[in-house]
Amino acid sequence: MPARTDPDAFLSLLADIVGPAHLLTRDDEVARYVADWRRCYPGAARAVVRPAGTAEVSRVVAACAAHGVPVVPQGGNTGLVGGSTPDASRTEVVLSLSRMAAVRSVDPLDNAMTLEAGCTVLAAQEAAAAQGRLFPLSLASEGSATIGGVLATNAGGEQVLRYGNARELALGLEVVLADGRVLQGLGALRKDNTGYDLKQLFIGSEGTLGVVTAATFRLFAPPRKVVTAWVAVRDAEAAVLLLARLTEAVGERVTAFELLGRQAIDQVLAHGVAGMRDPLGGSYPWAVLFDVSETSARLDPAPAVEEVLGAAMEDGLVADAVVAASGPQAHALWALREHVPEAQRLEGPSIKHDISVAVSRIPAFIAEAGAALEALMPGIRVVCFGHVGDGNLHYNQSKPPGMPDAEFRAREEAVHELVHAVAARMQGSISAEHGIGRLKQAAFLQHKSPVALELMARLKRALDPANTFNPGRVLPRERLLPLP
Ligand SMILES: Cc1cc2nc3c(=O)[nH]c(=O)nc-3n(C[C@H](O)[C@H](O)[C@H](O)COP(=O)(O)OP(=O)(O)OC[C@H]3O[C@@H](n4cnc5c(N)ncnc54)[C@H](O)[C@@H]3O)c2cc1C
Repeated sequence: MPARTDPDAFLSLLADIVGPAHLLTRDDEVARYVADWRRCYPGAARAVVRPAGTAEVSRVVAACAAHGVPVVPQGGNTGLVGGSTPDASRTEVVLSLSRMAAVRSVDPLDNAMTLEAGCTVLAAQEAAAAQGRLFPLSLASEGSATIGGVLATNAGGEQVLRYGNARELALGLEVVLADGRVLQGLGALRKDNTGYDLKQLFIGSEGTLGVVTAATFRLFAPPRKVVTAWVAVRDAEAAVLLLARLTEAVGERVTAFELLGRQAIDQVLAHGVAGMRDPLGGSYPWAVLFDVSETSARLDPAPAVEEVLGAAMEDGLVADAVVAASGPQAHALWALREHVPEAQRLEGPSIKHDISVAVSRIPAFIAEAGAALEALMPGIRVVCFGHVGDGNLHYNQSKPPGMPDAEFRAREEAVHELVHAVAARMQGSISAEHGIGRLKQAAFLQHKSPVALELMARLKRALDPANTFNPGRVLPRERLLPLP
């Protein structure tokens, strides 16, 4: 979408709003804002604009809309689907929320916290902890990922099983709309049935419907005791049965429940930081890593966990298990899990998927997709790990030993199609956590129902008629042509 006015006049207008120091145009200044985390989408921005507050965001958006200039909202730029960076046309303006990082309030009586969109997840956790509360959103990118970004992508992470994803944590939102007006919806209300719940439209919309400028989140009592265990399980079915047994025994205290296939563990042991070792010795095919946490200082969930593990061993579901004896030991177990993506990167080219199916279907998904992949590309290595308690697998592939990188890359689409088709057949999702952006658009259009796609296009046209926000992301432009 080309700008309709003198480019210099438009940039002067933006500089007047945010101050010249916060309008970046030189290539060296904008470099980190135009490259996505995976370096898949080389981009070029017309400018990067860094407003200091909601009023400035409102004026920037209104100016861009008036001049027909597309806006790419950006937080920590850790998104994985090419949604947070500009395309290569040099026509788009990146609207960075990085200067808007204030914690507006933390209220232990309301169990609620209000933050500006550019505040990092880590800073949000720290602000809650300083008032004796838990902000439970936790993901490996939390040092950079921002409140606006996690809401725009409805981020999940490791504790969704107990606390839900960003959508479940959000109580209220402040959003700048496509015409620059501010939708004010902050507040700690748990109950409010006054018409449509508008905040839900913006959560998970990947910056295509509005700019989140602040949000109120629910908070929780922090855990006083956490039992962390690394468990060798017979197979994926045994992992799912173990989760059911743990849930029966300790209910919502199961805070995280992760599955790791042997290939994932072996890659970490081969490429992980020095001194990293298998907690149990290396002959089992699958491991589960879980946390059970208790908020009362007077209660200890450890005996119940040990009872469940003992019975699961007797029944042949579990071959061996280690329960962390200290915080540092628990940390070391989690470090193994968190190093999987980095280890896979060091192992060489990989093909990645972020699927979800109902928890009960995980074993069938793994069996069916694994067999079909082996038939498609004999020797392909499946690196399967993820938040199995939420039915979410990072179901990735490394190339067969000896295959040239170019040959593996050339067959990437066929691998995607196969994996997504198996997930879709099981009523699963082709994108459980990371969203659509540009990366997942083809699979999104293929697997989402035509009715859902049409409703989404109608919403986009209603809220952003000029297609100012993140054009071409999530829904391609041609999907927004006048609808019947
Ligand atoms: C190492 C690593 C681990 C990760 N682990 C997880 C994980 O466990 N779970 C998970 O869900 N994700 C994970 N991610 C993905 C990513 O961190 C999340 O999607 C995160 O929510 C992005 O936040 P951000 O501030 O970096 O957003 P950005 O990358 O800046 O933007 C992401 C999207 O949100 C939009 N956006 C950003 N800010 C705003 C705003 N204020 N208003 C409107 N739209 C906005 C952008 O336009 C873009 O479409 C991981 C990423 C990395 C690099």
